[in-house]
Amino acid sequence: MFIGHFAVGLLSKKNDQLPSLAMMFLAVQLLDLIWPILVLFGIETFSIDPGNTKLTHLNFEFYPYSHSLLAAFVWSLLLGAGYFLFTKNSKGSLLLGGLVISHWILDLITHRPDLPLSPFSETRMGFGLWNYPVIEIVLEVLLFGVGAFLYYKSSNFKRKKSFLLLIAFLLVVHLMNLSGPPPPNVMAVAWSANLMWLIILWAGWIEKKPSQST
Ligand SMILES: [Zn+2]
Repeated sequence: MFIGHFAVGLLSKKNDQLPSLAMMFLAVQLLDLIWPILVLFGIETFSIDPGNTKLTHLNFEFYPYSHSLLAAFVWSLLLGAGYFLFTKNSKGSLLLGGLVISHWILDLITHRPDLPLSPFSETRMGFGLWNYPVIEIVLEVLLFGVGAFLYYKSSNFKRKKSFLLLIAFLLVVHLMNLSGPPPPNVMAVAWSANLMWLIILWAGWIEKKPSQST
């Protein structure tokens, strides 16, 4: 699951109310933003395993601090509380917290049973939709298309071209992930996954009000 997470962020954005699209994207992808950092520090591990599921070459061996259910709740709480501290927007905080959990639920549907319940549990879950490529791809792309369309229609933002470019970029990255050869090594995946922070900045740029010239 990649663009499906962003789809949930796009679908959650209501007109011009806060939180911003950048915050929505941060929330839906928080677990996948933390994961490559923990991998680079050697705290979490995965290996390249062509055919691990039909849609991914990655074998997620150990990632309880970014991707267990308990960790998802902790990150959700931290983001929600942090947002409330700065904005006093309780509705927005609850929404962002829920979006963090949405990542785990979508991963639960797509991953094979590799998602731990907690760092202290051996139980791993996953319904393995990644082994049904046609259904998975159609559902995810459809969800993303609807999310992008509704956001484009309902939000009042100036940088339409930049938004369409971001949508196209995410689609291309998604298709490359699905159809490309296995990545060369673990570190290449971890470093490139860190580039996802740029997508958050990009979303911030899209909604930034052009500064008024005097
Ligand atoms: Zn994930």
